[in-house]
Amino acid sequence: MDMRRIMLALAALLVLASCAEKKPSFPLYGWDSVGKNPDLEEVRAKFQNYKAHGFTGICVQADLADIPAVAKIAHEEGLEYHAWKPCMLQSGKPHEWYTVNRLGQRADEFPAYVQYYQALDPANPEVQDYIVSMLTEIAAVPDVDYVQLDYIRYADAILARGLWEKYGLDFSNGPYPAADYCYCDRCVAEFKELTGIDILAAEDPQAVPEWTAFRCGKITQLVTKVCDAVHAMGKKVSADVFPGPDSHAVPMVRQQWDQWPLDMVFPMNYNDFYLQPAEWLAEITEEEVKASGDMPVISGLFICREWQRKSEIKDPEGHGLLPSEIATAVKGSLDAGAAGICLFTPGSMTPEHWAELDKLVL
Ligand SMILES: [Zn+2]
Repeated sequence: MDMRRIMLALAALLVLASCAEKKPSFPLYGWDSVGKNPDLEEVRAKFQNYKAHGFTGICVQADLADIPAVAKIAHEEGLEYHAWKPCMLQSGKPHEWYTVNRLGQRADEFPAYVQYYQALDPANPEVQDYIVSMLTEIAAVPDVDYVQLDYIRYADAILARGLWEKYGLDFSNGPYPAADYCYCDRCVAEFKELTGIDILAAEDPQAVPEWTAFRCGKITQLVTKVCDAVHAMGKKVSADVFPGPDSHAVPMVRQQWDQWPLDMVFPMNYNDFYLQPAEWLAEITEEEVKASGDMPVISGLFICREWQRKSEIKDPEGHGLLPSEIATAVKGSLDAGAAGICLFTPGSMTPEHWAELDKLVL
């Protein structure tokens, strides 16, 4: 064992010893990633540490080849396993699979914002088959409890308010045409046939509610196909979504996720991205719980790793919750009806964050 593993194991033992016999008071999850061919003893030590902090389950991004071993360890350590998988952002697929923006550009050749923003078209039957087969392959792994859909959406037609400066863009008048999808021939024709509206002739496509509904429907249909296939295998489906859905997810990325047949939903309630304080968690979770009916809502919290120098960090993606904000965020979410909490990420949690969380969980 190297020193890092020993330290992790010791930390887990210490927490275990201090809270033996105590049961976590609410379901707690975290998003985590493992690299290719991970050191499995290190994975186990990490999972033991999460378990000691009261985790119920873990959402892990891993290569398909590594999922069987990693998921098995999660089960051995008493953790529910969500196989976290980015869906619609993919590179190197056939050109026709990609969405087309309002300027007529395809996302593989002209990605919006950043090079990896190459979003597939959920209305394309070949894309649908590809996504369903990719996810059922994961669901077939014995120790996978949930397949967790991430990036199950269009590209951000509108960026979160906290990111406008970073990208030098202003969305106060609605979507950015270069990131507003999908205007491919198939989508335009199908929409015309359904509604009689020629969206290419519309002065302001954003002012056509049927057009928003059409695109939300395309994602909903794809998620429904995935859920049908995965449920038929006796497995469950969760998804990482934008907050809302009506306040953010629908206008920003066309996720009408309250209509998805999921088993659990993980809204990414990252308050700093929206320039909101920790108190916002209560407000947004209330909307989510009202919208989701029986579907359990797990409130996703963004943790600030370098919290001591947060005020010096310009990029909001380096912001997040301070240790002193953990109680407000967690209690606000749970009091508003969230079924649990998920941390993005446990790796960003400092000893000060853990101390605040442990007080609430254990
Ligand atoms: Zn299209």
